[in-house]
Amino acid sequence: MARKNLVLPFTRELIETVERQFPTPFHIYDEAGIRANARRLQAAFAWNPGFREYFAVKACPNPYLLKIMQAEGFGADCSSLPELLLAEQVGIVGEGIMFTSNATPADEFVKARALAAIVNLDDLSHLAFLEQTAGLPELICFRYNPGPLKGGNAIIGQPEEAKYGFTREQLFEGYRIAKAKGVKRFGLHTMVASNELNFQYFVDTAELLFDLVVEISRQVGITFEFVNIGGGIGIPYKPEQEAVDLERVGAGIRRAYEQRLLAQGHPALKLYLECGRMITGPYGYLVTRVRHIKNTYKRYAGLDACMANLMRPALYGSYHHITVMGKEQQPATVKYDVTGSLCENNDKFAIDRMLPELAPGDLLVIHDAGAHGHAMGFQYNGKLRSAELLLRADGRVVPIRRAETAADYFATLDLPGLSQFAV
Ligand SMILES: *Cc1c(COP(=O)(O)O)cnc(C)c1O
Repeated sequence: MARKNLVLPFTRELIETVERQFPTPFHIYDEAGIRANARRLQAAFAWNPGFREYFAVKACPNPYLLKIMQAEGFGADCSSLPELLLAEQVGIVGEGIMFTSNATPADEFVKARALAAIVNLDDLSHLAFLEQTAGLPELICFRYNPGPLKGGNAIIGQPEEAKYGFTREQLFEGYRIAKAKGVKRFGLHTMVASNELNFQYFVDTAELLFDLVVEISRQVGITFEFVNIGGGIGIPYKPEQEAVDLERVGAGIRRAYEQRLLAQGHPALKLYLECGRMITGPYGYLVTRVRHIKNTYKRYAGLDACMANLMRPALYGSYHHITVMGKEQQPATVKYDVTGSLCENNDKFAIDRMLPELAPGDLLVIHDAGAHGHAMGFQYNGKLRSAELLLRADGRVVPIRRAETAADYFATLDLPGLSQFAV
C-alpha cells in the first residue's frame, strides 16, 4: 500500500475564494475522496452478499455527509437519541440503523424500536429492560467483550478494562433467554479496536466471532443472520504510516468465513462493519490562519482555530499533519508549537513541529480532521464551533453547517429571567 496521501484536494486559490464568504477556521470535506473510499470498502467485501457498513455517526454527525453515505449503500451506527433522530432525518431507518448504546435510557430503546432499527444490547440485564420498556424485537444482537481473549490497543484500552459488552458466558445465556422469549433472528457484534492499522487484527477479530457463532449456534440451537465486527480501522495520521490494506482485510476475513463458518456447517451470514474514522477521517481538513508568531522560551504559532475545533492532539497526544499553503516547497527549518487561543496549555495542534518559517496570515491545513474532529467540539472558554463546508465532486464548495455565533452560546440561557436575580 502507498504511504499517506499528502496531496490536498483543493488549491490555495480555491480556499482564498471560499474564505471571503466563510472565514477561517472551517472544516472542509472532500466528497470525491469519501465516495471513492466508500467504493473501495464495498469492493473489498463484495464477496459477502448482504455486506454492509454502518457509518459510526458520532465520527462526523452531519446530515449532508450521511446522505452521501446512504447513497453509497451505508447504514448508520447510532448510540444516542439525537443520533437516531439524525439518521431518521436523512431517511436512514429500519435495519439501516444499528443502535449500539450503553447505559441506555428507556426512551432511546423506544425510539430505536419505533424506527425498527437493529438493537444491539450492551448487557445481559438490558434484555429484560428492553422487554419492559420497548418490547422485544424479532431480531436481536448482543455486543461481545472478549476480555482477556483479545489484546486491546491504545485508544480503546484492554477489553477486560472496557465497560462495554457481554462476557462469553453471558452471551450463551442471553441468546438462550431471547430464544425462549420468541426472538427469531440473531446477530453478534464486537468492537474491540480503535485506530488500528494492522490488517491482521481485523481478521483475528472475525475469526474469534465466527468460532463463537458456530459454538453458540450448536449449543443454543439458533442460526445467526449477521456478524458485526465493529469499527476501528485506523488511518495513517503520520506521513510515514500506511493505510490499512482493505483488500487484504476483505480477503483474510473471506478465508476465515469459508473455513470457520461455512465449512463448520453454519449457513451464510451477512458481515457488517461500523467504521467511522476510516470513512471520513482522511477526507476532512481543518483550515485555519496564523494569527500571531510569538517567541519566548519556545516559538509559538497562534492560530484562529483551537482545540474546540479538533481535540485529538490535546486528548490523545495525536499527530495531525500540517501543510502550510504556498510554502509546500520550502524546507521545514523552524520548530514551532502550533497553538489555539483557548486558556488551557494543552490547546496545541502540534508540539516541536518542524515547519517552514511562518508569518501572521499564513494559511494552514490540518489533515485528517474528518472524523472525531468537529464532532468533539465544545464551547468551553467561549470558543465557538466552526463551519463545515463540503467540496462537492463537481468542484463547488457548499456550506453544510454554519459557524456558531455568540447567540448560539447564549441560546440555552433564559437571559430575561436573569432580572429576577437582581439585587
Ligand atoms: C466509536 C465507535 C465506532 C467507530 O469507531 P471508529 O474508530 O471511528 O471506526 C464504531 N462502533 C462503536 C460502538 C463505537 O463506539
